[in-house]
Amino acid sequence: MQKLPFVTKEQIEEIAKTYPTPFHIYDEKGIRENARKLKEAFAWNKGFKEYFAVKATPNPYLMQILREEGCGVDCSSLTELMLSDTVGFSGKEIMFSSNVTPAADFKLARKLNAIINFDDLTHIDFFAGLAPFAETMCCRYNPGGDFTLNNEIMDTPRDAKYGMTKEQMKEAFRKLKGYGVKHFGIHAFLASNTTDNGYYPKLAEILFRLAVELAAETGVHIAFINLSGGVGIAYRPEQKDNDIFVIGEGVRKAYENILVPAGMGDVAIFTELGRFMLAPYGHLVAKVLHEKHIWKEYIGLDACAANLMRPAMYKAYHHITVLGKENAPCDHLYDVTGGLCENNDKFAVDRMLPKINVGDYVVIHDTGAHGFSMGYNYNGKLRSAELLLRPDGSVKLIRRAETPEDYFATLDLTPFKKN
Ligand SMILES: *Cc1c(COP(=O)(O)O)cnc(C)c1O
Repeated sequence: MQKLPFVTKEQIEEIAKTYPTPFHIYDEKGIRENARKLKEAFAWNKGFKEYFAVKATPNPYLMQILREEGCGVDCSSLTELMLSDTVGFSGKEIMFSSNVTPAADFKLARKLNAIINFDDLTHIDFFAGLAPFAETMCCRYNPGGDFTLNNEIMDTPRDAKYGMTKEQMKEAFRKLKGYGVKHFGIHAFLASNTTDNGYYPKLAEILFRLAVELAAETGVHIAFINLSGGVGIAYRPEQKDNDIFVIGEGVRKAYENILVPAGMGDVAIFTELGRFMLAPYGHLVAKVLHEKHIWKEYIGLDACAANLMRPAMYKAYHHITVLGKENAPCDHLYDVTGGLCENNDKFAVDRMLPKINVGDYVVIHDTGAHGFSMGYNYNGKLRSAELLLRPDGSVKLIRRAETPEDYFATLDLTPFKKN
């Protein structure tokens, strides 16, 4: 399917008069419609709640939009908790799914009454020395082995640093019960960026069976099951997108087959989606600064890997549209690069695109999650602005671009100042 941007060349030319490129821009209308679909797909479950994974896009204005759509947040660090608190999330609207957790982070999570998800058995005793246990606590599961779907290996939990073994889960629940915990949650994240509608249903089946076993053996009340993140998006035009309604229905079937007969029909389903919630509704918009003809043809942008790390880090595919040339033939072979002194700073390698000219605007698609947030300052590059495209077509600055002053803010330069 052709991937088209949610902005036009004319819109970007207008926006760039006020906010120079590069910038990330987010589509509020798309975000809201998608969040409503997710809610509808799981409406069969009374306690359903999506906890948006803050790390994907830690911007308070976007978090506020999701909050208005009924979402909570999933945090994994002190600053993500602080940000969520500032936006107004509290108590059971916050899941704290961290790992290698510092004491201060646990303390703040507890102070905010967040639902704490223990990544390890040893964290329980660590936590006991910090704060009183809450009535509701969660533990993260790692089944080990390979995670397969339709005989295909999707991921390898045995190599993942997260979660506990089944025996450790049992011990953790008994320990927590001893500490007075009354309601329990189970969490697992077994494959990332899946584009098979079968991922959540398969995961649900594994966790539902585990829940039945844990409840029977430890006698605890399982209050919720957190399917975490991992529902992906179609980054490539030829990929098929997930159908969230098929996914919701698949989870419902597993629920009816496993939990309901065990008398556990009150279990709430939680999700912690990041990518699925926002990735398609963000674009990185950049301008072509240079073209270069050596052994290959290069197009150099004013954005670089510091604005979007996924291609450099994972060789991830991000679709590129040259604005105004949406329907032009893709008859030129290019590498599209940023300006880092680092040869992996390439948004696209050997990509067929329309003929590109200096000054053209390009949209790099699907940057709404794990885009801006993975940014960094290598080579002294500055983080870009973030803009919100409102449903009425207006544009709001939701994070200003960094300036050199921000880059120098953590240095005390007074000893070097000339008088
Ligand atoms: C990263 C993460 C998520 C979100 O993952 P997506 O792939 O963006 O859906 C959810 N939960 C936890 C614990 C995570 O670390």
